[in-house]
Parts: sequence; structure tokens; C-alpha cells
Amino acid sequence: MSSPKFKRILLKLSGEVLMGSQQFGIDPGTVAALAQEVKAAKDTGLEICLVIGGGNIFRGMAGAAKGMDRAQADYMGMLATVMNALAMQNALEQLGVPTRVQSAIEMDKVCEPVIRRRAERHLEKGRVVIFAAGVGEPYFTTDSGAALRAAEMQCDALLKGTSVDGIYDCDPKTNPDAKRYDTVDYGTVLAKNLKVMDASAVALCRDNAIPIIVFSIREKGNLARVLAGQGTQTTVQKGA
Ligand code: UDP
Repeated sequence: MSSPKFKRILLKLSGEVLMGSQQFGIDPGTVAALAQEVKAAKDTGLEICLVIGGGNIFRGMAGAAKGMDRAQADYMGMLATVMNALAMQNALEQLGVPTRVQSAIEMDKVCEPVIRRRAERHLEKGRVVIFAAGVGEPYFTTDSGAALRAAEMQCDALLKGTSVDGIYDCDPKTNPDAKRYDTVDYGTVLAKNLKVMDASAVALCRDNAIPIIVFSIREKGNLARVLAGQGTQTTVQKGA
């Protein structure tokens, strides 16, 4: 892998990618493989912040759709992200990658609270920092959490690792003529309501000039290729 152009990145992984081929929950083998991807990227000298979703365990919207109070369901979703963060911490540390989890909901028995200066110090010392519990408030998602942490940690880019290899002009699953963008402007993503991240996350990245790189994390070695500018991805940036 050639040297990456970024010094510090925020990698957002949807909870779904932790399921592997399961329908639900955490597949330890898949988490181990994801940790390998993170380690390979870190071994190039990158500083890495991680945000992991919770959709493999619980989504607030799904609970609300079944009659639950939305805020209550969202808190459950946030707790799901903490479980995923601990699973990823375990997998990274088994590979010898020092890691700290910081949660936006304080849980001092299991992890640190979010303290920006402390997170800075961890990164300087070569630790991966996993930010859990999104922004710590209901009615948000971990995409917004990722954009917020990318901004406050002054990351050079937000990489969103999902099941698809980028952003399409329409749903590629239902439309064989769907075209993937190589680059696309923040404004186009918002105006066309392209399904990448929620609008508040895209707007936060736009306002702080943080490029969003959407790529498939399911292919082995793809994070490294994308960071080297050799993978298949869509970059959301200004004036694309
Ligand atoms: N959530 C929340 N506030 C946040 C982040 C997450 O309320 O700041 C809740 C919300 O219910 C969400 C769930 O946690 O559905 C899991 O996060 P998300 O849906 O973003 O996970 P992903 O789709 O990335 O797996």
C-alpha cells in the first residue's frame, strides 16, 4: 500500500457490517476481519478515530415503528453502539492495536467519557479511539456522531465503510442503469436526497470542509486500497 494522503481519518462502520452473513448481532470472525483492515491502515502511520453504528442490534426508528417511545428506543440504540465498540476494541487489542473507547453516554466501568483533549493524546500515542453512543442524544444517528467527531478531532476525511461501493444516482438493487458517482458535491447529495448519510451529517461535513468517502468495507483489503486512492469509492466534496 502506498503512503496515504491523509494524516488522521475517521472511519465510520455501519453496525450491519459487524453481522457478517448473520441476520442480527455481532459475528466475531467478521469483527476480527474488520480489525485487520483497521490495523493495516494504522500500520501505514495513520491516526484513526472509529465510530460504529448499532443497526445490527437495535435502531430507535424500528422500535418507534412498533409503538415504543422514540427517545427511549434511541437510548437503546446508543447502548447497542457501545456493545459494538467494545467488540471492536477487543478484536483490535487481540491484534496488538492499542485502543480506547470513549462513550458520549458516561459508563465509567467499561470505557472513558468523550474528552477531546484526552482523545488527542491517545491518537498522538498511536492508539485507535473508538467513539461510542453517537452524539449521546436521541433523534440523532451515528452518522451525525461520526461527522461531529470528525470535525472536533480535525480529521482529514470521514470514510464511511458500508455494504455498497459508493453513491449511486438511484438504487442499484432495483435499477440496472444506476450510475455510481466518482465524486459528488455535498449540495447534490442533499438536493437529490442521495442515501449516503443523514442530511445533518452531510451538512456538518460540508460546513467543515470534511470530504466523505463512501466505499465497501466487505471486500478484503479495500480500506487500504481506498486510502491509497486505488479503490472503488465515491468522494463527497465541495464543488465536485
Ligand atoms: N442513536 C441515537 N443518537 C445518536 C446515535 C445513535 O439516538 O447520536 C441511536 C438511534 O436509535 C440509532 C441507533 O442508535 O438508530 C443505532 O445507530 P445507527 O442507526 O446510526 O447505526 P447504523 O445504521 O450505523 O448501524
